[in-house]
Amino acid sequence: MALGLHSSRRNFLVGAGGFAGAAAAARLMPGAAFAAEAGGAYCPPPSAWSDLAKAVKGGVLRPEDPFFADVCRPNNLRYGATLPAGIARCASPADVQACIQWVKQQAMPFAVRSGGHSYAGFSTTPGLLIDMTRMTGAKPLPGKDGLVEVQGGTLNSAVYKQMERLGRTITHGRCDTVGAAGFLLGGGIGFNMRKYGMASDLLHATELVTADGSHVKVDAGTDSALYWACRGGGGGNFGINTSFTLETRPAEAVTVFNLTWSKDLPKVLKLLLTELATAPDDFGSKINVTIPSRQEQCDKAPVRVSILGQLHKSKVTLKEIFKSTWEWIDWSKSELLEDVPYWAAQDFLVETTFPYYYQEKSSYMKAADIGDEAIAAMFDWAAKMPATSMPVAFKFFQVGGAINRVGPAETAYVHRGYDWLFTVEANWWRPTDSALLIEQALEWQQRFYDDVNRRTKATGAFQNFPDPALADWQRAYYGENLAKLAEVKKAVDPTMLFTFAQAIRPA
Ligand SMILES: Cc1cc2nc3c(=O)[nH]c(=O)nc-3n(C[C@H](O)[C@H](O)[C@H](O)COP(=O)(O)OP(=O)(O)OC[C@H]3O[C@@H](n4cnc5c(N)ncnc54)[C@H](O)[C@@H]3O)c2cc1C
Repeated sequence: MALGLHSSRRNFLVGAGGFAGAAAAARLMPGAAFAAEAGGAYCPPPSAWSDLAKAVKGGVLRPEDPFFADVCRPNNLRYGATLPAGIARCASPADVQACIQWVKQQAMPFAVRSGGHSYAGFSTTPGLLIDMTRMTGAKPLPGKDGLVEVQGGTLNSAVYKQMERLGRTITHGRCDTVGAAGFLLGGGIGFNMRKYGMASDLLHATELVTADGSHVKVDAGTDSALYWACRGGGGGNFGINTSFTLETRPAEAVTVFNLTWSKDLPKVLKLLLTELATAPDDFGSKINVTIPSRQEQCDKAPVRVSILGQLHKSKVTLKEIFKSTWEWIDWSKSELLEDVPYWAAQDFLVETTFPYYYQEKSSYMKAADIGDEAIAAMFDWAAKMPATSMPVAFKFFQVGGAINRVGPAETAYVHRGYDWLFTVEANWWRPTDSALLIEQALEWQQRFYDDVNRRTKATGAFQNFPDPALADWQRAYYGENLAKLAEVKKAVDPTMLFTFAQAIRPA
């Protein structure tokens, strides 16, 4: 297929001889002989590590270096035992190209890391960890109205700081330590999404180093299939993205809220899910049904229903939007801040997190398909949860609005036409929770998920919440766009240099 890559081929590091190969060919290269696996460890000779250190200007860390363990620790500690043989701290596209050349020469597995928040540990590897976090920063493009260029390893916190300085915003999440790369490439959800679309809908251009070592730029102007694939095709599939150019929007004051209900929870949840589905696009929300931890249950903490969100300036009031549930809000446990400057309001909504152990499952629902019987089943499942040392929530992220005005095949992000993105968590801590309890919690999660999906006709799964236990993940993440994504993969990475447990395969 014609990819129509707008290839500037800048910084093309080596000539045809050095970079021509695919992974299979690379295994025959002289250096590959040293990449023997010894007891599960990858052992290139010291000279190979020195070559890498000379080529990667941002530096290379080996296990004996201070801070090695801190740099390679993933957010999901479930995958924290997989330690890399080395970490390349890329500071430029040329560093990224040097890494690609080196892993091919050494036949070394590798993973790309920005924020390290992959739910399924897809940025962990026993080989080379290509750490992008030294490529950080976000700057407005002069003369390009509202366009901001974000470096490939920037964390969300740095993007938000720059947006605040500029008085602008995008569709963004709540967690500062998530990487912009993973967030954007898998779609990217947040409270603005009903007004501005998915974060990937705002992606105007991106630069990436592909499997053949070239550094290419794809953008709205080229209309290439690779540009299409970078808008929801998921991180780590098509290359290493070194920058993203985003359309931004003016940051205007919002009303923010965290509201709680303490009684008639099934009735409240049903009303929230049905009545809020007709809210204006200015309204963004996430409903949480929180199941207490083991200790909290001993302390008689109840299951809670709450909603967190924001309302842009609107002709409709929050009271009108919430309709019947407004009267039953437990104001002793609720907060509402009106007309707050945009970025100050985000401090209220921010999610402060720390690494722990988890698995999340997701699917997409339409409000009309969520009946009383499904809601009753959700609360039955909540009562049956094998309580671990951490609370667990099932959640409903409100989608719809601008997201649904883009067709499913217009970008790689296929999940259009829904009202809610449903998720259910399993959270635990080691060694506080036993292996048996963790197994029971995961089984509970699977049965809850299957039952709720069946009762609500929910489908799909969010590729930014990858689930290692999902059977047909290809269809679930990419639906009708899978075939085109496989064609793009075939064109840019036919031998799957970029691979992980749920990587897109070439057609
Ligand atoms: C606490 C928490 C809060 C979250 N909140 C939100 C939210 O509000 N909205 C939302 O949409 N999602 C949210 N997520 C999900 C998050 O967007 C995804 O997990 C995302 O993939 C994480 O990106 P990362 O760069 O932090 O992770 P990483 O683990 O570094 O990367 C994720 C994937 O992208 C690849 N990748 C990383 N950098 C690059 C790059 N430069 N080029 C190409 N591929 C790359 C990795 O190889 C991996 O496959 C949240 C996750 C957590 C843990």
